[in-house]
Order: sequence, then structure tokens, then C-alpha cells
Amino acid sequence: MLDIQKIRADFPILSEKVNGKPLVYFDNGATSQKPQVVIDAIAKYYQEINANIHRGVHTLSQLATDAYEISRVKIQHHINAKFSHEVLFTSGTTHGINLVTNGFASILKPGDEVIVSSLEHHSNIVPWQMLCEKTGATLKVIPMNEEGELIIEAYDALLSEKTKVVTVNHISNALGIINPIKYMIEKAHAVGAAVLIDGAQAVPHLKPDVQDLDCDFYAFSGHKMCGPTGTGILYGKEEWLNKLPPYQGGGEMIKEVTFEKTTYADLPHKFEAGTPNIAGGIVLGTAVDYLNHIGFHNIHQHETHLLQHATKRLLEIEGLKIYGTGNKASVVSFNIDGIHPYDIGSIIDKLGIAVRTGHHCAQPIMNFFCIPGTIRASFSFYNTKEEIDIMVEAIKKAKAMLS
Ligand SMILES: *Cc1c(COP(=O)(O)O)cnc(C)c1O
Repeated sequence: MLDIQKIRADFPILSEKVNGKPLVYFDNGATSQKPQVVIDAIAKYYQEINANIHRGVHTLSQLATDAYEISRVKIQHHINAKFSHEVLFTSGTTHGINLVTNGFASILKPGDEVIVSSLEHHSNIVPWQMLCEKTGATLKVIPMNEEGELIIEAYDALLSEKTKVVTVNHISNALGIINPIKYMIEKAHAVGAAVLIDGAQAVPHLKPDVQDLDCDFYAFSGHKMCGPTGTGILYGKEEWLNKLPPYQGGGEMIKEVTFEKTTYADLPHKFEAGTPNIAGGIVLGTAVDYLNHIGFHNIHQHETHLLQHATKRLLEIEGLKIYGTGNKASVVSFNIDGIHPYDIGSIIDKLGIAVRTGHHCAQPIMNFFCIPGTIRASFSFYNTKEEIDIMVEAIKKAKAMLS
């Protein structure tokens, strides 16, 4: 069992007061808090080894380059990629997805089909729509059911030799539903389609194994897994990364430049134009070490208890409905009859409780349920049952005020 109080002491912000009350932070789906080791590692980088990477012969440049590349290898092992050059540093999930859709612009033809799921975050919808507009390909959508789960028979029926790409999140940000991606990847490959997995909500809760999943791309953000903002990873299978054209042109991504013709650098540099977020990339490795030190098995166990406790306690409140009741991560998305989610969110904020309200960048899901949005409490391994009880009491109070 985890010593939660000891873990909480690693996160300085968790002992802050907000609006005069002890902070209860349940907006982990939007971004996670950072442990002191991560905060310290950022300062240490700038204090001790700051220099540009892959360029200088001087010592600091070598030290910074080594630290950056060690972090890449660490993340390679964390997600079990075959090669470290399949691990690209990005600024986040959004960047990773756009890198891929940009590459497919030179591959897709009119009549080709791209399949997305109805559970996606806008950043895994809009870039594909833009790609389809550009190429004349058609966007197909996997429908969902009342439990918030994808209708897998409908997915099977959408697949055909016209399908060139399937894109789906590992875990839904709005509802927390865990999608059966291994099955979906296998089915997509059977018709020759490539698969991108949006892992933004999965990496804080589990350790993905990209070789076992056999996905072609896996994108995630560092800031939702205890790392700095502006960091992320795009995993891509070597053969796909070699096939796709570069995303941005610039320094560091070339082999040779003349005004007649430029040749591109080998992987991963072909996709890493310009000076990257060096400190962020290095410190993302620190965050991954921190999470592995806590252990994903322990994280899963604790978060499962939190989810069960929150579900049970919230359902005590009359008129409260939870959206997304299938197999899911530690996220509860809910509404109370006749009350706008924003009103509840504002009142409990005054009591120090941070939840997300609104459409969670997933408007199609809200349209499906015919609601303007939900209140989303998303839990992390550093949250406690006592905090959930504080939230439940606060919601009861808000409900009494509003009805
Ligand atoms: C947060 C999130 C994104 C976008 O991540 P950024 O860090 O904002 O680029 C994409 N997909 C899902 C499922 C998310 O939760």
C-alpha cells in the first residue's frame, strides 16, 4: 500500500490554501501537479548545464545533449519502444497529432477514409478534419452508447480497404472510459490501416507497451504525468516515421542544405527542427522516474479505491447522474438535475476544490448526452478518500444553495 501522506509531501502545491481553504485538487485530467524532484530538476538544469544541444563541441553542450538523449532512452524503455529514434520530443499531444496528420497529407487520396471515435478530445478530431479537407479523404465516426463506450460492432462495420488511418484515445478525457485499443489496432491492421493512439489520459494511470499494442503512433503530453508543461512525446514506428515527410523545416533537421536541394537528417532529428524545450525534455525523464518509483501497480490500486469511493459517495446525492459507466480510469463526470455544472464548480471553488466544468474539449460527447457540459473530478495517486468526502459535502451544500 502507498503511504499517501508521504507522497503528498512530495508535492508542495498540495499544502497550499486556495480561497482560504486547503486545496483539494481534482483537475488532474487537465494537468497534474509536480513533485519537488521535478521542480528542482528544472532549476538544476539551468543552474548547471544549460547549453544548446547537438551543436557545440564544448563541455556544457555535451552534458546537455547527453542528458536530453538519456531522457529519450528512458522514455523509450518506459513505453517499450524498439528504438530510441522512434521516440520524438514534442510540445505535447496536440503537437504529436498534428505532426502525423501533416505527414498523411502527402499520403491520403480522395476516397480514402479516416476513422475517429466519438469519444475524442478536439485535438484528435480537428487535425483529422483539416487533413480530410486538404486531401479529399472522408472522416468516419465510431458511435458510442449510453454507457459512454464505443460501439465496437459499428467500428468493425466501418473498416474496409478504404480505411487508411484509425485514431482513438486510449482513455477518454471527458468520461474516463478505457477503450479496447488492442483489439481495435488488430482489426485496423487487418485492413492495412495505420493507427494513432492518443495516450494523453492514459500515461498518468498506466504504462503503455507500444510493441505489445502494436500501434503505429502513440502521442502523449508530459504535463499530465507530473512533467513540465510544453513537453510531450510522439512514438512512431520506424517504418512510418521514415515514410512521413518532415513537419517543420529548420535547423537540426537537415543533413545538407543548398539552395538547390536539402536532404533531411535521420530519425529522430528529421522531426525535431529548431531548439527544443531542452530542460522540459530532460525533466520529463525525471517525472517518468518518479512515477515508476511509486509504481503503476500501486497507482492503479489506489486510484481504483478512489474511483469506487467517489462513485458510491456521489450517488448518495439525489438527482446526480454519472456519465460514463463502463470500464474506466479514476474520473467521474457528472451533473445534478436542473443545475448548471458551472454553478456547482464556482461554488465549490470558493471552498478550495478544483474540478473542471464544461465540455472538456469533447463537444460531440456532450451533444450525444444533450447536455451543455459536466462536472469532472479526475483523481491522481496523491488524492485521498478524505478529499472526496470534502468534495461530496461541498456539492451537497452547493446543491442546497442552488435549488
Ligand atoms: C489533454 C488532452 C489532449 C491535448 O493535450 P495537450 O497537452 O493540450 O496537447 C489530447 N487528448 C486528450 C485525450 C487529452 O486529455
